[in-house]
Amino acid sequence: QQHRRNPSSGLTGSQQARLSSLARDLACMNGLLLKDNPASSSSGSAAPDRCMMAPITLVPSSFSKEAFNQAVELQALFNSLYHRVSRDHNFLCRVIPPAAESDSFLSALWDMYQTVRQSGADQPITLALNRADYMLDEEAGLKQVEINLMASSFGGLAQRLSTVHRQVMSAAGVSERQLAHRLPDNRPAETFGEAFIQAFKLYGRPEAAILFVVSPDERNIFDQRTLEAEIYAADASSDSPVHVPQILRRSFDQIASSARLEESSGRLYLADQEVAIVYYRHGYSPDHFSDPAGVAWSAKLLMERSRAIKCPSLAYMLANTKAVQAALCEPGAVARYLPGKSAKVEATFVDQCVLSDSRAHRWLLADPEDFVLKPQREGGGNNIYGRDVVDFASRLTTRQSAAYILMRRIRPQQQVSLMLKADQRLSRRPEMPLCVSAISELGIYGALVAKNNSERLNCSAGHVLRTKSAFTDEGGVATGFSCIDTVYLV
Ligand code: ADP
Ligand code: MG
Repeated sequence: QQHRRNPSSGLTGSQQARLSSLARDLACMNGLLLKDNPASSSSGSAAPDRCMMAPITLVPSSFSKEAFNQAVELQALFNSLYHRVSRDHNFLCRVIPPAAESDSFLSALWDMYQTVRQSGADQPITLALNRADYMLDEEAGLKQVEINLMASSFGGLAQRLSTVHRQVMSAAGVSERQLAHRLPDNRPAETFGEAFIQAFKLYGRPEAAILFVVSPDERNIFDQRTLEAEIYAADASSDSPVHVPQILRRSFDQIASSARLEESSGRLYLADQEVAIVYYRHGYSPDHFSDPAGVAWSAKLLMERSRAIKCPSLAYMLANTKAVQAALCEPGAVARYLPGKSAKVEATFVDQCVLSDSRAHRWLLADPEDFVLKPQREGGGNNIYGRDVVDFASRLTTRQSAAYILMRRIRPQQQVSLMLKADQRLSRRPEMPLCVSAISELGIYGALVAKNNSERLNCSAGHVLRTKSAFTDEGGVATGFSCIDTVYLV
């Protein structure tokens, strides 16, 4: 396959070694780090201050300026689309139950959504921190992989990587003028911080805290800490600072033992501290709820029954499913939410439908290699590709197959990527980057703040690229498949 020319083309071996040394230092200096994996240490528990460099590319990857701008412009529409979907109870009632029938996690979320709805609990204010993921198909152009409305990650690290990439490119001899032209301004965490403050002010309880719901063993903690810092910074630089008293980080376990709901007001407290915003960086996957006593589920139910702003709300979590993504591909579906503006959005969709649909059967007969099968899961590592799809699908009942979607495969152009990974010490030439035939996935961040239907903030908020070997199907930075990357616009 032809590789696209990019900033790594033409760097000599000695340049690569020199720039890699610079980039590694800058990465660590700028906090492009992951906490050490406890499983990789001999004792099974990592020292709390042990970190490693996050996997990054040495230089940015080429990306079409036109397609990039297209994705940036679409973001506000996607933010509105999903906000409206989350508020369309009838639509969720039509799409979710068939997918939930043989998926116990989705079914538990659906039950909780209904319980909370019937209790009359209300969350008038929305804070949505989204990331739409795309690949640039060689033939079909910009195509959406999925949208994330929950725990959208890497905004903090991407912002820091843009700083590092700018310096590395400058050291590689690229002029300031070129850099200003090719490397877009990129501040996802800063924009998310501003959205937090706007939502916090709308909630109107200046004494209340912000709660981050986190995994007890989070490795991507510096991404989250960046956002914390940006929330304080956005407050300090706003016209009327509220002096957000605290940002708390708590696991479901810790929440279960100290959270309280004031039934009369619907207010949420942790011990005596009121909580204005519950920001979930955890709780998107069944294994986050695996404690046999159901403590995590009870903690979640308590928070959901409160009027605190949940980012995301249960309705947003349901809107975030692959089942909804497929349902929005039905003719006329997007137009109901975005009258007159649906064509641009739909242009980024590839063929997809639930696996129980008769189209899925036809597609698989025609060419299984051209499809990806996805369950209703988030967080990577769950999909089935190519020939395995047929085998897997043939073992499912019709009812079970309603829990999966079949999606046409996007085929991005390969380019050479120079990757820096912490475990390269093990390679024969540790001073050199790994040279890999790679493909990239573009994530565009978006923020929305609303009071009921009324949008108070709706913007795009920067980007991240995740670049992986062209020969692995699955992505994921934390899982070790992908590097964090940024765009070089061409
Ligand atoms: P998750 O919610 O687990 O992140 P995704 O839909 O993002 O699920 O799929 C995970 C990864 O699988 C993506 O990052 C991408 O690398 C690959 N992938 C998903 N859908 C497609 C597709 N239609 N074509 C090509 N690759 C895909
Ligand atoms: Mg994904």
